[in-house]
Amino acid sequence: MLLIGNGRLVTRDPENPFRENGAVLIEDGKIKETGEFPELSRKYPKADFIDAKGGVIMPAFINAHEHIYSAMARGISINGYQPKGFLDILDGMWWTVDRNLDNRKTKLSAIETYIECIKNGCTTVFDHHASFGEIPGSLFAIAEAAKELGMRTCLCYEISDRGGKEKSRAAVEENVDFIRYAQADTSDMIAGMMGMHASFTISDETMELCRKELPEGAGFHIHVAEGIYDLHQCLKEHSKRIVDRLYDWDILGPKTLLAHCIYVNAHEMELIHDTNTMVVHNPESNMGNACGCPPTMEMVHRGILTGLGTDGYTHDMVESYKVANILHKHHLCDPNAAWGEVPQMLFENNAKIANRYFKTPLGVLKPGAAADVIVMDYNPPTPMSADNANGHILFGMNGRCVTTTVCNGQILMKDRVLHTIDEEKAMAEIRKESQKLWDKINSR
Ligand SMILES: [Zn+2]
Repeated sequence: MLLIGNGRLVTRDPENPFRENGAVLIEDGKIKETGEFPELSRKYPKADFIDAKGGVIMPAFINAHEHIYSAMARGISINGYQPKGFLDILDGMWWTVDRNLDNRKTKLSAIETYIECIKNGCTTVFDHHASFGEIPGSLFAIAEAAKELGMRTCLCYEISDRGGKEKSRAAVEENVDFIRYAQADTSDMIAGMMGMHASFTISDETMELCRKELPEGAGFHIHVAEGIYDLHQCLKEHSKRIVDRLYDWDILGPKTLLAHCIYVNAHEMELIHDTNTMVVHNPESNMGNACGCPPTMEMVHRGILTGLGTDGYTHDMVESYKVANILHKHHLCDPNAAWGEVPQMLFENNAKIANRYFKTPLGVLKPGAAADVIVMDYNPPTPMSADNANGHILFGMNGRCVTTTVCNGQILMKDRVLHTIDEEKAMAEIRKESQKLWDKINSR
């Protein structure tokens, strides 16, 4: 048993949302009890104890859209790379990186990404992977890293015809093999989806293959209308808009996750809603790629299950919260926009998205829920309660405030020290391999 206490407790459980001096008791990977710290420490004197030291105890974060493949790109300089638009960014940067990833580099990229997630208090990651340098076994290499580090993760490989038919077929196979493997696993720590890059790099033939090969119980994870080109190409080649194309191929549904959805119209939003399809918004990435601002507030108001991701841009969900909060105010010229919607996306909807793939309740601290818990080093300068906890998180915290990260009852980080890996050694190895990748890319 593990007791985390002596801090303000934010549970996200509507029946018991906040305690000024609370504690959470963990047993066998699940929350056994939450309550007053003095009471629980008297009741369970033999439990191992993590002292929150007056900080904030809350559920660990969930990231609904990540890119492990981008890990070795930080600080890279590619000869001749001067993007004029989103397609140049994809081809010149991201496809160039992923074409040069083998399974060793993929695994190290996963280790790096998961380390940063743990350090930012995020323990559930939906990743969208590409490594066209080596496709077979790539998802299994990532899963190995997740297991070693103690992370909960849902993986997929992005099918695309950009590297030719043979590679898109290998990508379909990798997804199918991995989904079957994850479905047979009983730990509730690993899940698989059928990843697809985007409509504009997937032919009808490949769409048909993806649909045909999808194992029962899984859905798709695909970029939708991230750039205007994706829409223009779809209209030109297929005489329909992207969401209509996906609907016609039977890609939509409650297990399918659409990333971005920037250029979608009212009819497409209706289709997304009526099929109970999920959407994930990635504010910083959309701004950084100059792709535009999606109608995220409208999607939330329409009742579409919309979550928050980072698209590899950051691993800090609080940073994503901060940026989404100001992006939609700025975009809509409305200072009242996004106050309620973004925290709903981050704290409620990401948990609902995750629980379409993982059985144990996530994103909440209540008996029976997953013991995915973090401690934030935060001493509120103003009164803090259940009603204004989100305001404290938004304006007073960031991922670096996380001192302790627990996932599935296992301590992954305590007092900023990682428990499941030698961080120094891992980073040295990743730096060395990154240099090799950069040299390889620039020797072309
Ligand atoms: Zn993405």
